[in-house]
Amino acid sequence: MSQPVASRLEPLVPDYVLAFEPYTPSKPDPELRRLYGVPHIHRLNNNENPLGPPPAACEVMSSADPRSAAIYPSGDAFYVRQAIADKFNLSTDQIIVGNGATELISFITKAFCASGDNIVTADKTFAVYEWVAAFSGFEARLVPLLDDAFDSARILAEIGERTKIVFICNPNNPTGTYWDDRKLHHFLDSVGNRCIVVLDESYIEFVEKPDFPDGISLMNEYPNLVVFRTFSKMYGLAGLRIGYLAGRADVVDVIRRTCVVYSVNSVAQLAAVAALQDESHITATRRLVSESRDWLTGELRRLGLPYIANEGNFVMVRLPISDTLVYRRMMKYGVMVRTMTGFRYPNHIRVSLSHFDVMEDFVLALEAALAT
Ligand SMILES: *Cc1c(COP(=O)(O)O)cnc(C)c1O
Repeated sequence: MSQPVASRLEPLVPDYVLAFEPYTPSKPDPELRRLYGVPHIHRLNNNENPLGPPPAACEVMSSADPRSAAIYPSGDAFYVRQAIADKFNLSTDQIIVGNGATELISFITKAFCASGDNIVTADKTFAVYEWVAAFSGFEARLVPLLDDAFDSARILAEIGERTKIVFICNPNNPTGTYWDDRKLHHFLDSVGNRCIVVLDESYIEFVEKPDFPDGISLMNEYPNLVVFRTFSKMYGLAGLRIGYLAGRADVVDVIRRTCVVYSVNSVAQLAAVAALQDESHITATRRLVSESRDWLTGELRRLGLPYIANEGNFVMVRLPISDTLVYRRMMKYGVMVRTMTGFRYPNHIRVSLSHFDVMEDFVLALEAALAT
């Protein structure tokens, strides 16, 4: 909870900033261990990769010269863009690298939205699209999910004269549902050139379904399509903050005007280039996630708890009691999950998929939290 804005400051603060409730991140582990009296905490709240970064990325990080910290990084992540361009057969002027994909949401919103404009997305998805619009003074039109998935017909109906960007999270965080190739094509055909369509593919590397669309391969066909990806999830570099967007060069040229250069640090750039080369890490992570999901959903059925488990490295669980209460009780067992009430899923938690022994601890803590 934030404190009320001082009356002296009030006239200086735009209404939409006054109305915005800041996000409160979790405290660092040592604070939480003290607070809950536990020796260890499993962080299952942020969909991080339990296998860590790929070995090649670990290597470049440990051999990085500490003295190079005195030097500014490449301002436009030169070698990262080159590595991404090579991997996906793009040109480097089709790519912008950001301080996490989160920063790219700000860039693209600033690039296309002016006062009176709006963005369209789902009500239950990655909340930052909505937040950036709200605290920048733009309307966020939120379309309810249909059967846990983005509802293309209602999204199309919400696109108006002043709609500049539609954000589609594919697969969706937190439900894991996705639009297949056919559905995405139909949607993009229907939108035409009316607005920019962002396809947030933060979890694409986890998806093995043959009908799952690859946004980057569609950019020639759909000039207003912009694809977001991140090194935070599959590539295990969440702590370094690095993600990227890809689009047609003319679209990217517009977004580049609103970019803060030098926002991506040099270690992140080194690690990202190395991480992109390591396909075996993806294979190992996929195996871990899929075994973990199978085991966990079996346990949830045994406990009679409804769940939403689709693509991505996370599962949502519906609880018979308050999610914040369950969160506090589970923390006493050293297990941290994501409460979902604030994300319009009352009495749900989202849990990241991890190693077997960690998931066992999760189930034990959940059972205990529901039994008390
Ligand atoms: C994690 C996540 C991101 C952004 O992650 P960064 O760490 O900022 O790169 C973006 N979109 C979705 C759907 C996510 O889950």
